[in-house]
Amino acid sequence: MPPRRVIGIDAGGTKLLGGVVDEGLVVHHRVRRTWRGSDRAETLDIFVEAVDEIRAAAPDVHAVGFGIPALVEWETGVSRWSTHLPLADVRFRDVMSERLGLPVVVDNDANAALLAEARLGAARDSSHAVLVALGTGIGSGLLLDGRIYRGSRGLGAEIGHMVVDLHGPDCQGDCPGRGCLEVLASGSAIGREGLEAARLAPSSVLGRRLAEGREITGAIVTELAHSGDEPARAVLSSIGRSLGYGLVSVVNVFNPEVIVIGGGAIAAGELLLAPARSVVEERALPPARDGVRIVPAHFGDESGMLGAALLAFDSLAAVS
Ligand SMILES: [Zn+2]
Repeated sequence: MPPRRVIGIDAGGTKLLGGVVDEGLVVHHRVRRTWRGSDRAETLDIFVEAVDEIRAAAPDVHAVGFGIPALVEWETGVSRWSTHLPLADVRFRDVMSERLGLPVVVDNDANAALLAEARLGAARDSSHAVLVALGTGIGSGLLLDGRIYRGSRGLGAEIGHMVVDLHGPDCQGDCPGRGCLEVLASGSAIGREGLEAARLAPSSVLGRRLAEGREITGAIVTELAHSGDEPARAVLSSIGRSLGYGLVSVVNVFNPEVIVIGGGAIAAGELLLAPARSVVEERALPPARDGVRIVPAHFGDESGMLGAALLAFDSLAAVS
């Protein structure tokens, strides 16, 4: 039998990344999409279009794995709720399988990323690991005793919506909470703090970008921080410390061996991770804090796509 290939799709709060993945985890025919509308039908159409575009280049795929930014009931493949996309109560697995004519498997995007990192990446050889993906929001996954922990209905492990500031700002998207970690330490938070910093330091490179009419995003703040702009570096340090306060609770509750930080915002690297580690060293309970490693995702922002592909391979193995 020739080597099998599947499609892995990683959907975030702002964009989608997909590709054909072979059994050696090499990715071909990447596609990217951003969500262009707000309604459910249009969102589902974009998923289908992305898969169709990939299949046009690679018709020999056997299954599709999706990681979506939603609370997904693992057994049924139903998307129950999403902070950022109109995917509440959607029979996602069945609808996609019917529309694509292929076997489909769906999981939460961060669970998919965790799967890739736990099997082959930064949490390899660990039985107790936490993945925190910093993007539009904060996704997360828990590997406890070697198994991905999903909660009673598959809706758990949402560290991004752990409250870290009782009187903090309203959370993002449709989350009814306030002071959640996601509103204080996501990629979007980097952009928001960056805008504030640009206004306060108009003569900095960051300030001049704002004056030129550029949108101050997390990506721009990160790029300028790497090139040495002080206000941009201070933003990442502040966000890194906010992330650290969330990780203190993660360390105290789960006693993980490793915390893997992924998502697009990990492009900030040590500028974000070093302050987060400092806070954990200051505030988490000894000795759990002393053994935990806080590291970037081995697969960068492609962990989710690769994990979605692994789910698809697993589903094929289960039926063959
Ligand atoms: Zn929230």
